[in-house]
Amino acid sequence: MTTIADRLSIAQSRINQAAQKCARNPNEVKLLAVSKTKPANDIIEAYLAGQRLFGENYVQEGEQKILQLGEEFNDIEWHFIGPLQSNKTKVVAEHFDWMHTLSREKVAKRLNDQRPPHLPPLQVCIQVNISNEQSKSGVDEQEVFKLAQQISQMPKLKLRGLMAIPTATDDINLQQDEFSRLNTLYQTLKQQFDTVDTLSMGMSGDLDIAITNGSTMVRVGSAIFGSRT
Ligand SMILES: *Cc1c(COP(=O)(O)O)cnc(C)c1O
Repeated sequence: MTTIADRLSIAQSRINQAAQKCARNPNEVKLLAVSKTKPANDIIEAYLAGQRLFGENYVQEGEQKILQLGEEFNDIEWHFIGPLQSNKTKVVAEHFDWMHTLSREKVAKRLNDQRPPHLPPLQVCIQVNISNEQSKSGVDEQEVFKLAQQISQMPKLKLRGLMAIPTATDDINLQQDEFSRLNTLYQTLKQQFDTVDTLSMGMSGDLDIAITNGSTMVRVGSAIFGSRT
């Protein structure tokens, strides 16, 4: 039987190998452990194995875990990576360190207004709808720069980069096309905003190709914590 610690180290080796294959420094790629639906004990187990970055998808579940663990394990960095309705922004503003799925000015404004003064700015990524599917969340490629400009004027938000969930597909060409368009967009954004240093893309199934295409943060759930029911 493999433990969470075993699987963390396997995930880290995958990151190292993918980085080496394309002559990147493995330290440029952070591992975000996605603990959604998993119990707080799993987070502690990963923490004791050295993991510090955790991602949660659901506002209430995330808030509960942060209230339960945040004080004792106060060097955990909490990342919100799920869809966020504008009436739920307060929880994210008050409890999380990062927010990956920003795609509307209205939500950005609320997060900026609701971020408590004693906390550092909320670190944010703009979610890009790279596959241009109607059903998917995120902004279109052309809209990224306008939203980035708006966020950059908000003192309690710090624009860190882009996030995307590319199409889940076996079509390697389609996959490659989406990842590389994201990378191009990221490089352009980085030239315009000097706070930008993060390209959040790649999950358990596609972190290798994501790293080849410039990812600086992979969000890995099932490969660390096991499959979700
Ligand atoms: C669940 C989730 C992940 C992790 O997915 P796995 O395939 O389990 O690694 C990553 N990013 C987002 C946005 C998610 O919702």
